[in-house]
Amino acid sequence: MSGIVNIRKSLLSVLMRTARWHLRHYLGRVDFPLAATFQLTNRCNLRCVMCNIPNNPDQSVLPFDLFRGIVKELKGLGCCYASLSGGEVLTIRDFFDYLREAKKHLPSVNTVTNGLLLDEAAAGEFKSAGADSVSLSLDGMEKTHERVRNSPGAFLKTVKAIEHLKKRAPGVRIVVNTVIMRSNIDDLYGLTKFVERLGVKHKFQPLNEHPRFDGQKMPYAVDRDMDIRQVKALVEYLLKRKNVANSAYFLRSIPGYFSKENNRGFFDERCVLPSFFCEFRENGLVYPCLAGVAWRDGYPAGKGLRNIFESAEYRKEVKRLEGCRLCQKSYSVCYIEPRLTFPVTNFLKYKLVSRLRGTV
Ligand code: SF4
Ligand code: SF4
Repeated sequence: MSGIVNIRKSLLSVLMRTARWHLRHYLGRVDFPLAATFQLTNRCNLRCVMCNIPNNPDQSVLPFDLFRGIVKELKGLGCCYASLSGGEVLTIRDFFDYLREAKKHLPSVNTVTNGLLLDEAAAGEFKSAGADSVSLSLDGMEKTHERVRNSPGAFLKTVKAIEHLKKRAPGVRIVVNTVIMRSNIDDLYGLTKFVERLGVKHKFQPLNEHPRFDGQKMPYAVDRDMDIRQVKALVEYLLKRKNVANSAYFLRSIPGYFSKENNRGFFDERCVLPSFFCEFRENGLVYPCLAGVAWRDGYPAGKGLRNIFESAEYRKEVKRLEGCRLCQKSYSVCYIEPRLTFPVTNFLKYKLVSRLRGTV
């Protein structure tokens, strides 16, 4: 019973904060973020073929006291969602203190993990900390997944992690994330059915670009050559699966991305994401969109978020990013799906009307 009351309370809180954001936005007042992601550390216990994050020379962790101050401030500014990510968050010894603190202040908190360290005790901690959702990665069935993740035994460990969460953290939404690339595309039909049988949600992300960090001698390069007919067939298949959590608009735009067409429509529109979103890094800097600014020139969060968001400099950057078109070339589900939902006009245009018409 108390669970139902809590869900109602947080839904009401999200609706109120969202309505307030729209009111301020359309009245021309300063926008504060509704959603935030935290890259708590670049440290990771895996070296996946498509990811450059663990090669970042900065292997520190966002200090807990700074994190606590940030989430308190975000609450006051009307933020309603945070995603805690890495690197691998479960390599942080006191990670559940971060999760508890986030949940004390924000209605909805997601955690992204590769699941390797998520044993039964950790699953119980997710529940007791009040986690709303946990995203885990599977990039194919056993052989394919372990080739992509460069780690023998990784598949069974992640599947076990999902089972632990189902048993010890009932009510916590579980989402499997999958990257679509040439080396796993044949495996994704089998994987989709497997995830369906696990009874959890499934989200897809086409292979995208990662930054090249200072000090790297070789450019970070991933092979994006794909057989477009294969991609289209997969998208048609995914559109029919009930547990696939991506929007139809996002899925249908994937073949265009891989075929290097310059996507238009939504992807050519003014980008409003930095007005309702921000990203924090392990180094204590905050960014209106980490990819949009190429991981450069963040703002020190410790100086006070309200001061930063209200500053002329930050507002100028948000305005400049309205002209950013990086999402045309580097599809990140974490940026595009929220852009399809916010502001409410985009939700109506790209989610509701598309669904009613059965088109995108
Ligand atoms: S588990 Fe995540 S952060 Fe770690 S290497 Fe793989 S994709 Fe990158
Ligand atoms: S277009 Fe994409 S990468 Fe650029 S600011 Fe917007 S969300 Fe960020």
